[in-house]
Amino acid sequence: MSANGMTRQMNSFKQRYSLYFLTFILLVVPAYSSSGMGTVVIDSMVNEIAGLENYLQILEDSTHKLTINQVIHSDYQSKFKPAVIFSEELSPKNTYWGKIVLKSELDRDSDWVLVLEDYWPISYVEAYITYDNQTFEVKKAGKLTPTPELDIKEGRFNKLHVFLPKNREEAAIFLKIRNVDHRPIGFTLKLENNISWFKKQEINNILQAIFHGILWVMIIYNFSMYISVGDKAYLYYVLYMVLLSMYALYYMGYLKTYFIGNHTRVNDYVWVISAYAPSVFYFLFARYYFRIKGRLPLTDWLIKTWVAIKSTILVVFLLILFIFYNTKLVGTMGSYLMLFEIGLYVVSLIYVIHATTKAKTKNAIYFIFGTSILLTSTVVFILNILIKGQGNYLILQAGIIIELIFFSFGLADRMKLREIKVQKSRERLIEQLQENERLQTEVNRQLEEKVKERTQKISRQKEEISQKNEELVALNEEKNYLIGIVAHDLGNPLANIKLYAQLIKRTAEKLSEKHINQLNIIEDSTENMMDMISKILDVNAIEAHKIKMNMEEVNLSSILNATIDELREKAENKNLSIYLDTSSEEAKVDKFYAKQTFDNLISNAIKFSEPGKRIHIVVKKKSDKVRVEIKDEGPGICADDMKKIFRKYQKLSAKPTGGERSTGLGLSIVKKYVELMQGKVWCESEPGSGSTFFIEFDKAEKPVVNKV
Ligand code: ADP
Repeated sequence: MSANGMTRQMNSFKQRYSLYFLTFILLVVPAYSSSGMGTVVIDSMVNEIAGLENYLQILEDSTHKLTINQVIHSDYQSKFKPAVIFSEELSPKNTYWGKIVLKSELDRDSDWVLVLEDYWPISYVEAYITYDNQTFEVKKAGKLTPTPELDIKEGRFNKLHVFLPKNREEAAIFLKIRNVDHRPIGFTLKLENNISWFKKQEINNILQAIFHGILWVMIIYNFSMYISVGDKAYLYYVLYMVLLSMYALYYMGYLKTYFIGNHTRVNDYVWVISAYAPSVFYFLFARYYFRIKGRLPLTDWLIKTWVAIKSTILVVFLLILFIFYNTKLVGTMGSYLMLFEIGLYVVSLIYVIHATTKAKTKNAIYFIFGTSILLTSTVVFILNILIKGQGNYLILQAGIIIELIFFSFGLADRMKLREIKVQKSRERLIEQLQENERLQTEVNRQLEEKVKERTQKISRQKEEISQKNEELVALNEEKNYLIGIVAHDLGNPLANIKLYAQLIKRTAEKLSEKHINQLNIIEDSTENMMDMISKILDVNAIEAHKIKMNMEEVNLSSILNATIDELREKAENKNLSIYLDTSSEEAKVDKFYAKQTFDNLISNAIKFSEPGKRIHIVVKKKSDKVRVEIKDEGPGICADDMKKIFRKYQKLSAKPTGGERSTGLGLSIVKKYVELMQGKVWCESEPGSGSTFFIEFDKAEKPVVNKV
């Protein structure tokens, strides 16, 4: 609350309230009388003689150059005229000299303090006391007087020690006053008993210390609450209190006296900020205190809007001060703003009371009490200014402290509610956790049971499988054994049948063509059967792991040549031509099984090619490998067949073209043999234009001589 701001329009109220004012003076100061123009006669001992400004005579100095020695000279004495201090007549353009004559009619010497209380902070004040035109004391004051030159150390009141001897000797007081800002000059003057003045100052200082002490303890406490709880209500509350403390320091003059030094204008910036910003934080505090955000959108909007408007006004005020230094304008606007805001407080209060009676919340009641008390003390403070011309700031300070105590109760209550809430949710959480744990244990138990059950089942199945496996192995062995015996035992009779068929053919002379044909069929059939038996035996041997590879470094061309030679007749029968393209490559293989492999593959090429086609065999080096490619112009192998081609008993789409037999075993045997020789076999084919079988063996380390 700004007394300076308020006082601008108080001036116009001044006339109206002069009656109160006079009554006050008559009650308090009956102890002096006037004797002639500008002379105050003191005839009884009192603590205070107020209203002396009414006896002041004024001398204008538009040159600003007059000195005290000139002024006390008789030439100037006649120029002193009575003047109204609280008027716009005293313009900031001039320096003014004020004169007041004091005369004691007391029967003893008395010590006084002349107190100048400025309505608007005066820029410069120099006070002189003269006895018989002799200057005895000079004091300096004024808000633009740099602190080191100031004579005032007890707040904002300018004091001058006045000694009045008992023998009616006159003392004249001269005041040199100058204002540089836009405000007119306005102040009160009083004499105060020296002892009572110091006592008052002492009490005042103690009260101020208590006020700031309480405020700062609460600031620190609430700030630490903000840090630990993070609730913004505490933060805005803290900022509100810091500004209140700043305003008190400003208003009581401590800021100027102890903190500002030569930065004399800072006083006015602090005045504007600390007088008009607290309400911003008050409303922000209320916003978080009542958790309006998110709950009451309209109220929230109103608060935010008012905070925005008020902040803008604050910035405008500061700019006016900074650019024009027009404290009068800011003070006037500020007073109207403040009146409006008091209205706003009252409306908000009614609203809160209304809401509270419904909700009956304790913390709202604390808030209402706090705010009402501050409002009351503010109104009393303002009425004080209106009536007495000077507000009793202590009343306002007491209001502030009581308000803050209520707010603190409210915050404590909020904290309690919050704690209860936290406690409840903690309990719920614990219950939930316990429930979770119980469920978890149950699930674990069920899982364990299931795992146990499954493990038992699996181990049973495993046992069964291994039993079955053993049986299968035994059966397989038996099967292999039987096949071996059967195949072996069939081999000899078949060989005999073939042999005798050939013998009959060669030795019997008178055989008809029909008989020769029948003998040929017997021969072919037995050969096919023998071929089949040999393959079955090969598979048997492979499966029984009876094959031992005898790896040698061999020239593949010679093996291939030998194989082709053996198959040439079959090829020629079908009018097929076989080409071998080789550069005598040596590889590490088992001679016997390599030959079996080539035999199988070339036999297939012959078997599945139409007469008149070609079979091309190429042997080539591939880094550390030797690759054999057997390419035919047969039907080729479709993609579907390609997947199964190396599996056992696979008779696929391509069928023998010359009535040959097919077992579906040849390629599976080839694959096994090649792998046992550490080689690789694969097939590439384009259906319709033949297929190529590739076999790769490790290359021999050194060249070898053909051993086949
Ligand atoms: P078999 O030749 O006794 O039928 P294989 O295992 O050697 O058994 O061949 C399996 C099948 O693969 C054959 O039935 C045939 O359909 C197909 N096949 C093998 N070689 C060739 C080839 N060179 N061209 C086309 N199809 C082939």
